Amino acid sequence: MSNEAQKEFQEKMRLLTASFTEELPNKISEIETLWSKLQAEWDMEALQKLHRSVHNLVGTGKTFGFPELSVEARTLEQILKNLMQKEVTADDLQSTMILRQVSELRRISVETGPKPTEDIIPAASNENVFLPDSHTSNLVFVVDDDVEAAQELALQLRYYGYEVEVFNHLDKFREAIKHKPNAIILMATEFPDDTMGGIHVMKETQRELNQSARVIFISSHDDLTYRLGAVRAGGIAYFTKPINSTELIDQIDLITASQTQESFRVLIVDDSSTVLFYHAAILEQAGITVKTISEPLNIIEILLEFDPDLVLMDLYMPACNGVELAKVIRQMSSFVSTPIVYLSSENDFNTQLEAMSLCGDDFLVKPIDPQQLISAVTFRVSRARFLRSLMVHDGLTGLLNHTTIKEGLAREVVRAHRLDSPLSFAMIDIDFFKKVNDNYGHSAGDRVIKSLSRLLKQRLRGTDIIGRYGGEEFAVIMTDTDAAFAAKVIDEIRNVFSRLLHQSQDEEFYVTFSCGIADLAHFSEAASLSEAADKALYQAKQRGRNKVVVNTGD
Ligand code: GH3
Ligand code: MG
Ligand code: MG
Repeated sequence: MSNEAQKEFQEKMRLLTASFTEELPNKISEIETLWSKLQAEWDMEALQKLHRSVHNLVGTGKTFGFPELSVEARTLEQILKNLMQKEVTADDLQSTMILRQVSELRRISVETGPKPTEDIIPAASNENVFLPDSHTSNLVFVVDDDVEAAQELALQLRYYGYEVEVFNHLDKFREAIKHKPNAIILMATEFPDDTMGGIHVMKETQRELNQSARVIFISSHDDLTYRLGAVRAGGIAYFTKPINSTELIDQIDLITASQTQESFRVLIVDDSSTVLFYHAAILEQAGITVKTISEPLNIIEILLEFDPDLVLMDLYMPACNGVELAKVIRQMSSFVSTPIVYLSSENDFNTQLEAMSLCGDDFLVKPIDPQQLISAVTFRVSRARFLRSLMVHDGLTGLLNHTTIKEGLAREVVRAHRLDSPLSFAMIDIDFFKKVNDNYGHSAGDRVIKSLSRLLKQRLRGTDIIGRYGGEEFAVIMTDTDAAFAAKVIDEIRNVFSRLLHQSQDEEFYVTFSCGIADLAHFSEAASLSEAADKALYQAKQRGRNKVVVNTGD
């Protein structure tokens, strides 16, 4: 964390502590009032409210420098929870104990001020461990003493838009990687004076660099000794010669795609705005994008729009409890796999276990150490993103699959309405694709699908969302774009695609596609929008194919 960010964080904490201290007398008055009410007339709802107020003090007290308050509040909370679970009124002994605890809280709030909260700041040196490296790089180092093979590989990589530097000697590579540590390395395993030279050099390089180098090994050996060596030197992938260059380039594409990863999104649900601010401040300092909700009833809209990687969930809230909300989230198909982590002062192991068995992924106990909160969140999000990427991407093209693009459309429609910005949806279908398969074979057909997917990725903006809708059908969500402009962009791609020369074993051929487009200005819901685009696609086919048609609803 930079000095400035650290100062800003400390200032935020100071303000939060001050506002907590100022609010404390009122909070205790509220507890006193609720208790008097309960004594006059016992009612479960008031008891629950009292329990929540006390429960909140357990966590916030410790966070904001009142550890003693937190301890006393916890004792009181236990008594109240017991009553709640048994659904009984307090007997005389319990009433006396409650009263004693309430006056303890009052005493502490009057007699003590906040202790300085220390150790809140994550250590500055750890800055880079939290988030993926944000430096994007299009640079590839090819390191191989076989001059011809290296040049050949470099040529192909350049053709796919990569910048390439070739090294035929390890010494030169060793020097270069120090200056450009973000390069993706294609390293041969064998070198003339050391049969595992490439592996040994990479091991050293990994030790010397501040970040981990991204290396793919290329080898003529396919035995465990070499493969193990490669893994131990940080190899991401291992290719044996002769190299399948399509697969190799796919692998490099995958590595470059993951480096442009967006920052992690975490949604925090808690009825206390102080707690929300506090946890949000910690996560934001680690570069995580945070959204907070104190009013859980709005959660559905926010979930769809924000699309969090993880939800941090309080357990006890007024309108509904955390477990109920977690169940609601789990029942929405887009969030079946989103990690839900409870963050609560509840320290009863059985309650924790029960909450987790009903749809939670983990249970963190408040007050939590900031560093621990950040790591807990980061590890879970990284893993969830990885698993999700396997779930949401199509295997052949790496584009989003059918389900995911449909979910994306629903989300983008909500967002576009809120921002009052245009949105277009395009459906693309390759023309006479059956014939491609019949005439040139299924694998040539697959290559055509891949080449269109590559072209779409290259030509569209990073904000456009591209999916493989079905076999030879694609869908594109173009944010901030009306149908007329979308048609212009896709028509250029149509033009380029129709001129691409495809190859099968012994023949060359051309392929075209048709496209239908509709926008939000004419069709205001996700369902009508995709139906309209589909109709336009049908018309494009009717009118002779190799065309882009816009549906304006008339
Ligand atoms: P049209 O111009 O009307 O779209 O004609 P078409 O031949 O493309 O029509 P249709 O949609 O009926 O045929 C699509 C064919 O695409 C059918 C299927 O065998 C083939 N196909 C679907 N998925 C794949 C795939 O992953 N790889 C290959 N090679 N072919 C596929
Ligand atoms: Mg089709
Ligand atoms: Mg087709």
